[in-house]
Amino acid sequence: MTAFMEKMRYISTRGGMPPKTFSEILLSGLSPDGGLAMPETYPQITAVELASWRNLNYQSLAYEIMSRFIDDIPASDLRGIIDRTYTIDAFGSEEITPLKTLEPGFHILGLSNGPTLAFKDIAMQFLGNLFEYTLAKTGQELNILGATSGDTGSSAEYAMRGKHGIRVFMLSPLGKMSRFQTAQMFSLQDENIYNLAIRGVFDDCQDIVKAVSNDHAFKLDHHIGTVNSINWARIVAQIVYYFKGYFAATSANHEQVSFAVPSGNFGNICAGHVARMMGLPIKHLILATNENDVLDEFFRTGLYRPRTTKETQHTSSPSMDISKASNFERFIFDLTGRDSAKVKVLWQAVDKGNAFDLTATPLWEKVKAFGLISGTSNHTGRIATIRRIYQKYNVLVDPHTADGLTVGLAYRELDIPLICLETALPAKFAESITEAIGHEPSRPAGFENLEDMPQRFVVKEADVNVIKAFIAERTTSV
Ligand SMILES: *Cc1c(COP(=O)(O)O)cnc(C)c1O
Repeated sequence: MTAFMEKMRYISTRGGMPPKTFSEILLSGLSPDGGLAMPETYPQITAVELASWRNLNYQSLAYEIMSRFIDDIPASDLRGIIDRTYTIDAFGSEEITPLKTLEPGFHILGLSNGPTLAFKDIAMQFLGNLFEYTLAKTGQELNILGATSGDTGSSAEYAMRGKHGIRVFMLSPLGKMSRFQTAQMFSLQDENIYNLAIRGVFDDCQDIVKAVSNDHAFKLDHHIGTVNSINWARIVAQIVYYFKGYFAATSANHEQVSFAVPSGNFGNICAGHVARMMGLPIKHLILATNENDVLDEFFRTGLYRPRTTKETQHTSSPSMDISKASNFERFIFDLTGRDSAKVKVLWQAVDKGNAFDLTATPLWEKVKAFGLISGTSNHTGRIATIRRIYQKYNVLVDPHTADGLTVGLAYRELDIPLICLETALPAKFAESITEAIGHEPSRPAGFENLEDMPQRFVVKEADVNVIKAFIAERTTSV
């Protein structure tokens, strides 16, 4: 036995941050140089370890994986945070992410049984408990400011509700979300949750958040933070279910599987990429986009061409309606062999709204080695898939999961189990479900009368100063 322990340190994809510990990167968004935090190296899982993890329950498996990345929180405290987060009460089953087998070698991994019925809960619920723990230790407070058009906002609010030292100020476009989504957020009565319905569209909300974030004095004064998908702790929490799904779909560790992942900001599939880099036997990570196909275009052609907001389509899988994929920079960092100078050059172009093209470079040849393949789904395809899966297997899926299934099935290899990630429940998208199968989806218990509950929100103009004043009145300046 050696008393020496290798410590995990985090660096920036753009090379401009001295190595930091997990706790030091937890509450910050971007690195000071504009890059994203990455572990210096990926922990490597040995065959012996993988074998010993096969029969662990979700919480123990989560501890084994997360403790490789989070090594500056005492073991028993981390275990406590995990145990408080992944409960039957919050996620509906002992498995937390149950695997549903449609036929031998074809599975759906249920990631959407948390409080807001979407996969973001898996990471966000953990983040809520982790933030509360960290803030209690330092005596600090955190005011989370965000903009949402649906899933992220409600997931953040349900994760932070009632947490000591945390307030949430969530901007959403007045009257633009579905009735279900609106009710889900606005029915929260917790004192630390502020729903601000903005007279404008989603981009107005996002612009306000950006403007406040760029006011460094205000941000420091009022302890403003975010919970967006570039947060590294969210990626770490998502790595767990790739292992869990792998063990559930196989019987021995020499077997390979492929995952199909409905993708937007590249957060979910980034966790799959990390799991594969750690040594999980994943053959393909099948990336599915909707009509907003910026990522599919890259993995087919080598051209990464972020879109403008005007070019971004509103689709029937709205949580994948993105113009650029924030976590994609993490993958390119690995693709370049962790060449931060190269990443910096590429993202100088991206940050100006330009494209980059790797087609004619040696990097393009290397993409294959990472197991990533991709395809695009569209409205007709996803509706047809919802109908077909319902008729053939009597299983109802939501439009995002249907995108993953559409593309995943197109790439299915008969000797490799295919695991499609379910990223939301159909109950959230009644309109598309009705179009596909002729009647509304049933709702999980507790959601029957959601729209009739009393709502708590304030309406505000799309004006940065109005929002700043609202926040300042409710937070203590230092
Ligand atoms: C956020 C979201 C996605 C996209 O996930 P990324 O991590 O952004 O790639 C897919 N489906 C649903 C339902 C989501 O909420």
